[in-house]
Amino acid sequence: MPTVYIKGISKQYLPGNPVLLPLDLSVSSGELFFLLGPSGCGKSTLLRIIAGFVCPDTGTISFDQKDITNIPPEKRQAAMVFQNYALWPHMTVYENVAFGLEAAGIRNPELDRSVRTALETVQLGDFHGRKPTSLSGGQQQRVALARALAVNPDVLLLDEPLSNLDARLRDSMRVEIRRICKERNLTAIYVTHDRREALSMADRIAVIDKGMIQQTGTPEELYRRPANRFVASFLGECNFIPVTHVSSGKNGTAVKTSIGEMVSASQAPAGGSETSAMVRPENILLDPAEGPNIFEAVIESGVFLGETSAWNINSGGCRLAVSEMGIRKRMPGDKCSFSIAPENVVLLKC
Ligand code: ADP
Ligand code: MG
Repeated sequence: MPTVYIKGISKQYLPGNPVLLPLDLSVSSGELFFLLGPSGCGKSTLLRIIAGFVCPDTGTISFDQKDITNIPPEKRQAAMVFQNYALWPHMTVYENVAFGLEAAGIRNPELDRSVRTALETVQLGDFHGRKPTSLSGGQQQRVALARALAVNPDVLLLDEPLSNLDARLRDSMRVEIRRICKERNLTAIYVTHDRREALSMADRIAVIDKGMIQQTGTPEELYRRPANRFVASFLGECNFIPVTHVSSGKNGTAVKTSIGEMVSASQAPAGGSETSAMVRPENILLDPAEGPNIFEAVIESGVFLGETSAWNINSGGCRLAVSEMGIRKRMPGDKCSFSIAPENVVLLKC
């Protein structure tokens, strides 16, 4: 399967209103790659440019060494799955899946074999004669996926394919889509605004905001080592603690905050800018036995969420959200201590 190279791609639909600023990206052969960002940030535009439905203002798209920027969509060896399924209501499931193959001039017995294989891949082998309207949302999305897979694409493009499904179905479809991509070793580019979808499925993710790639990395890299506040917040809940002074020591970077002085394993942001320390709620350990970065706090409020409790604590005038595993009764006004491991204190520009 090809590596997809995106070089200097930019786009504006209306003059003076850029949707994508020139951006570069490469998606490796066989990789399940996510474009993640808020609604309106240009994800679908970028995917449609890769598919060939939208023409970029600048830049090139290549599949391996082949520049396909000016090649029409049907000749790109790419297939797309849309959020709204885009099935033909008057055709059966079989006919819907066969449609693209027929248009490409594929005839029986190859046509029949491809349709059946695609429907079996998405576990709809017994649904040939049904009309899409008689299927559940999840089944309709599987038909849409089968239709994309039937043409045997090298590159699979998915635009928020699970957004119309309920939560339970989404979970199982995530696993299934990943399985299919990996079984077929597809180079896949998947657009979503849902961080959980991206974190749970992706080999790598590019976070997009304001028409720019903010950071590219594995789910763990982005979650644990976000490059800026936007990426940190978009990937999960976080606390930002204002930093008043930074100094580098041999065990990491020492920062002064209203909570106290803490050690971070990360480097101070370049350029001597205003700094904050980002800490995820689950990385604040209440009532620690020992360790660096131990501070005092008072419980302000909390809710029991089942496997975890979510507390708001106050330390030195700074309010912190804390996620605690297990069941532990704490009351507003209770005193507690907490610790944060230096590798979980991420220093970011304000
Ligand atoms: P996303 O998929 O991240 O939600 P889109 O790529 O669909 O974002 O859209 C990015 C921006 O471009 C939005 O502000 C949207 O309104 C605008 N846009 C998208 N398509 C068109 C179009 N065909 N004509 C004009 N503006 C468009
Ligand atoms: Mg979109």
